[in-house]
Amino acid sequence: MLKINRIQDLFIGLHTRYPTRHGHDVTQCYLDSTASSLAFEPAVDFVRHYLPHHANVHSENHYSAKISTQLFRWATEEVLRFVNADPHVYTCIFLGSGATAGISRAARVLQQVNPKPRALVSLMEHHSNDLPHRQHLEVSHISLLETPTGAGCVDVAQLEQQLSRGDVSYVAVTGVSNVTGIINPVAEIVRLAHQHQSYVLIDAAQMGPHMPINLDAWDADALVLSGHKLYAPGSPGALIIRKSLLDLTVPVEVGGGMVEDVSLHEYTVTSAYPDRELAGTPNIAGSILLGATTNMLRRIGMQDVLAKEQRLTKQLLTGMAKIPHLTVYGSLDASARVGVVSFNLQELPHQMTAMILNDFFGIAVRNQCFCAHPYVRVLMREELWDLPVAAGLSDEQIEAYIDQYRGMVRISLGLYNTEADIERVLAALADIAADVDYYKTQYRGDAVHGFRHQLGELPIAFSHPERELDRWIDECGVRQKNDQEYAID
Ligand code: PMP
Repeated sequence: MLKINRIQDLFIGLHTRYPTRHGHDVTQCYLDSTASSLAFEPAVDFVRHYLPHHANVHSENHYSAKISTQLFRWATEEVLRFVNADPHVYTCIFLGSGATAGISRAARVLQQVNPKPRALVSLMEHHSNDLPHRQHLEVSHISLLETPTGAGCVDVAQLEQQLSRGDVSYVAVTGVSNVTGIINPVAEIVRLAHQHQSYVLIDAAQMGPHMPINLDAWDADALVLSGHKLYAPGSPGALIIRKSLLDLTVPVEVGGGMVEDVSLHEYTVTSAYPDRELAGTPNIAGSILLGATTNMLRRIGMQDVLAKEQRLTKQLLTGMAKIPHLTVYGSLDASARVGVVSFNLQELPHQMTAMILNDFFGIAVRNQCFCAHPYVRVLMREELWDLPVAAGLSDEQIEAYIDQYRGMVRISLGLYNTEADIERVLAALADIAADVDYYKTQYRGDAVHGFRHQLGELPIAFSHPERELDRWIDECGVRQKNDQEYAID
């Protein structure tokens, strides 16, 4: 734990201050890492160290091109090491701006190499690990285990039953839910899918930042990561996939950088990985940033990261259980979750709770449905049966209620969060729960059209981009000619 304690302050944004409705500024408490995490300063620093040597890749014949090409290759190797993937078996392809592009690419490849009509996903998937599969195949949604405290992980027995029909091209499943932090039994899922001649794609967008990944041991066919959730904003997503599967397909995108020879009528694609899958110039600096981040995380030890996070999650869940009228969604077993907790205060719309946490307490959380509408519906339906608001409602009325009010508030942890952050959000929630009526009077609007603070927005101290850039313009001896134009002296 010592190692984590020493690095947990090295994130950019931990000292950012914002105004509150109490009239004074506070240091923000960032609890929205599941959407995007804060940047890891050592990795950003490494990229600044690299940038004086920046050039395009695909050449080693001048010094900066050589350094860039080698560092880009190092980044792919680092990501493979981070997920424990044998580089002889798997390749790492940097794609897009998050996990979504990698999932779409994997969907195309897997349905081509195993041409069967169906894909299986779970009911807890992010839309990005559901909709890309619907573009090619019929998709069935596997339900979730019922536990004494709410919906749990993927129901493996139901998965097996579906697989046994023999018509499943692949299973695409999230390692960790972005709504509840619940961990899925991925090794077991891979074993069953392979037994039934189906492939497996693991969406590790949430697993990556929170717990160790062991692709070699799990034997999955493909896995995706999202760099901006892995403390590397501006980095791409990563698809780690078996080379033997790509060998059976033609590259989805063609262009420069992935061909050996081009004539007017033909072209030959390189057999080298990952180049074969990377048409055009990749996001070089972003990939190196992700390489540096995953290198550091691997050396810090993701097992320790998970242990710390589960300790904080337990503290959070224990504290939330003491707050009246607060519902936490999904199974409450803290050992089967990472630090992602969605909840509602029953007497407040989710948007208002999120705004109050921000406006009065300087706490950043996210609200709504987190791009997982079917899962949020399942969780809300489960909760509604116990609430007075649902008493006497028919099934249709309950569905209509969910349609209108669906959404929750999500607290999500990163490597930098501490016991003090958990105490801070628990104290804020207790305060809000104790004074719901006061807070309600602070906002106008409604749950359907949205809320606004009665007094409008507080001005926040982020200057106009051009004003920030003026400093450099002045330093360059460039003076402002008029509002629209700049001229060089
Ligand atoms: N899968 C999961 C589990 C996610 O949490 C997210 C992002 N919230 C995605 C996929 C999509 O990732 P991105 O936005 O980085 O493309």
